[in-house]
Amino acid sequence: MADYIGSIDQGTTSTRFMIFDHGGNEVARHQLEHEQVMPKAGWVEHDPTEIWERTTSVIQTALRRAKLEASDLAALGITNQRETTVVWNRKTGRPYYNAIVWQDTRTDRIASALERDGHGDTIRHKAGLPPATYFAGGKIKWILENVDGVREAAEAGDAIFGTTDSWVLWNLTGGPRGGVHVTDVTNASRTMLMDLETLDWDDELLAIFDIPRQMLPEIKPSSSPEPYGHTLENGPFGGEVPITGILGDQQAATVGQVCFEPGEAKNTYGTGNFMLLNTGTEIVRSKAGLLTTPAYKFGDEPCVYALEGSIAVTGSAVQWLRDQLGIISGAAQSESLAKQVEDNGGVYFVPAFSGLFAPYWRSDARGAIVGLSRYNTNAHLARATLESICYQSRDVAEAMAKDSGVELEVLKVDGGVTANELCMQIQSDVLGVPVSRPVVAETTALGAAYAAGLAVGFWANTDELRENWNESKRWEPSWDETRREEGYAMWKKAVTRTLDWVDVD
Ligand code: ADP
Repeated sequence: MADYIGSIDQGTTSTRFMIFDHGGNEVARHQLEHEQVMPKAGWVEHDPTEIWERTTSVIQTALRRAKLEASDLAALGITNQRETTVVWNRKTGRPYYNAIVWQDTRTDRIASALERDGHGDTIRHKAGLPPATYFAGGKIKWILENVDGVREAAEAGDAIFGTTDSWVLWNLTGGPRGGVHVTDVTNASRTMLMDLETLDWDDELLAIFDIPRQMLPEIKPSSSPEPYGHTLENGPFGGEVPITGILGDQQAATVGQVCFEPGEAKNTYGTGNFMLLNTGTEIVRSKAGLLTTPAYKFGDEPCVYALEGSIAVTGSAVQWLRDQLGIISGAAQSESLAKQVEDNGGVYFVPAFSGLFAPYWRSDARGAIVGLSRYNTNAHLARATLESICYQSRDVAEAMAKDSGVELEVLKVDGGVTANELCMQIQSDVLGVPVSRPVVAETTALGAAYAAGLAVGFWANTDELRENWNESKRWEPSWDETRREEGYAMWKKAVTRTLDWVDVD
């Protein structure tokens, strides 16, 4: 068998291609950003054609630099920004509209109408999701209703939908000449159109959204011994590689962090934060404001589910300090500035820039900085920003404990913000549990590689993957219980000050 596994990570801000060896070590990578198109306040789009071009370049450059070719890869996995919606013509390969990104809030009226018309409970029960702008169903509906000719083309079977995993895979397998139109359970589950129990598109949900079934991809396992398709001689790989793994990015990170047992959780700190707790083959329906979602489905084995706490703004609050306030010149400086003070000086910052996601799901919230006095400085604000990342994660951790009855013993972390040592120390202090970061920080790309490699026997089983996981650093709690609980009580009070701020009807 070939020595390596390839992994495409089609993310929100960039696309990367990585190659891993049997030990889960990185052998090569290349990464390119794509444009964030923001035509109006609250609208966020990507150009799907640019994403496909970036994907082909990162593959070609990484292979060339590593002096590897298609025959060196035993399989290929794909992971992707979830929910971001592409609708394209299967005969021409041309998108009908830019991809509507997960952060885009243009479908707020569609989402509130779902609740008003009494569909909220059906969607929560069947799909495991609260009606929200975040998910793909409303975005597909918006394109069907607002872009000329799409509904007719969809009825005729010419206009097809996919998240960016499907878009990339369809193009890799031939595009208009035989492209394979599939997705996996984790991506399909983020549309509000898939039934968590049957793992298939649901007619009642399709009817609520008025979406023709024929435009949707076929739903496959996340790791598939029977390849979804193969890359082509005349494509970016210059040869045939079986494509055998697909996972949405947060589920991929869960696999990359080897959270294979019920009760194991990971928290990824990027633009936003996403904590996933493995709940095994049981579907746990949240009462505390979390999402219920497939974590992965490997081949014929039963689907493994997770509870998920999605937080919209964490690392992007640090970007806001840099780009909008200009009080730091780079993200890393948030650490040195915050270190100038011992504590937050009474300041709490709730970065509810686009409302609050889990566990609150309040689109009427907006950001607030509270507790200011004449004494406070930029350093307190920097510290309050790092604390906001940690307190939001505590909100989600509390919800997980409520829903699952499982108390966290250690939190496995990854993502860009985990480079911030102070932030990770505060996280441990705020939660009162150790925080642990692995050696391989690219858990998302690694998880997709694992899914692809398991399918072809490159890795025999998940025990072998566990052996690849090594800790690089651990932070232990240093606050006493009084400080922890007083701080958290003040945070909760600060959150109440952000609610009911804008009128969403
Ligand atoms: P994504 O995959 O969502 O693009 P990444 O995992 O690449 O995110 O992380 C990028 C985020 O991490 C940015 O929002 C940035 O502000 C934040 N970040 C990066 N380095 C640091 C740091 N040292 N301290 C705090 N935040 C950081």
